[in-house]
Amino acid sequence: MNTPSCRNCRTDAYLRYLQFTPARHYKVQHRFQQGTIERDRTDAPVSDYFCAKCGLQDGRSVPMGWVEPETKTSDEAILEEFGAVYVAPGARQTRDGWIYRG
Ligand SMILES: [Zn+2]
Repeated sequence: MNTPSCRNCRTDAYLRYLQFTPARHYKVQHRFQQGTIERDRTDAPVSDYFCAKCGLQDGRSVPMGWVEPETKTSDEAILEEFGAVYVAPGARQTRDGWIYRG
């Protein structure tokens, strides 16, 4: 299982984390011959995020114990290097300070 990364930029350097859904543990029952058997199931934790460089919004299952990393590249650094930064999904800010939606 992999950790979050932008599919366009192929790095996690510009990611902004939106939501973390913890692992969920539950029991499921299966019919087995005359009775039922109970099994423990676990859904992996899920992280939702977007890329501040290209704006891609995504989410994925992450390994148990994964925690959101520190932001690696600041909005200011992305703006400086690429001329624009996504401050939220679908909201792109350019050097003139305007925020464009869509
Ligand atoms: Zn990206």
